[in-house]
Amino acid sequence: MRLILVGPPGAGKGTQAAKLIERLGVPHLSTGDMLREAVKQGTELGQQAQAHMSAGGLVPDDLVIPIVVQRIKQDDCGTGFILDGFPRTLPQAEALDQALQAAGVELDAVAVITVKDDLIVERITGRRMDPETNTIYHMTFNPPPEEVVPRLLHRQDDTEEACRSRLTKYHGET
Ligand code: ADP
Repeated sequence: MRLILVGPPGAGKGTQAAKLIERLGVPHLSTGDMLREAVKQGTELGQQAQAHMSAGGLVPDDLVIPIVVQRIKQDDCGTGFILDGFPRTLPQAEALDQALQAAGVELDAVAVITVKDDLIVERITGRRMDPETNTIYHMTFNPPPEEVVPRLLHRQDDTEEACRSRLTKYHGET
């Protein structure tokens, strides 16, 4: 199954992808996760991506496209993948089309998740991540157990300002 999940930040793409990979047995390819990992590792890509990400902007196409094109060629993507957060721009969609054509495979589905902007802001600003288990919590909607609270991380781009900027990009470009 080759599936793309599209939706604004905080729509629940990551949450649904985690459920779907268990059923489908294909890898979850999140460009946001890949980029955050590159930032954490301090790679050249990470250094170039960091400023765009923390401001809620998009990482330039020429940095993001090669990561995905390389990734979907790996063996574990042979039976499919769930793409989350890619494509986000027209050039990214075109590059994906080309890569799939070159591999002689087709997409099975694109699922679009829609959520109202104000609810997104509420979800994003309350979102926290447990770095030990990668579990995502929301301080009101899905409160974490007390013992994990001290280690929870609040993403740098999960402020209201960066979130509004990501929403503008989403409506304008994605
Ligand atoms: P969200 O969907 O909540 O905005 P992601 O984890 O998908 O979060 O992405 C976080 C950030 O990583 C984005 O705001 C953007 O800066 C960068 N990013 C992720 N995917 C892409 C992409 N396909 N193209 C450009 N930038 C991307």
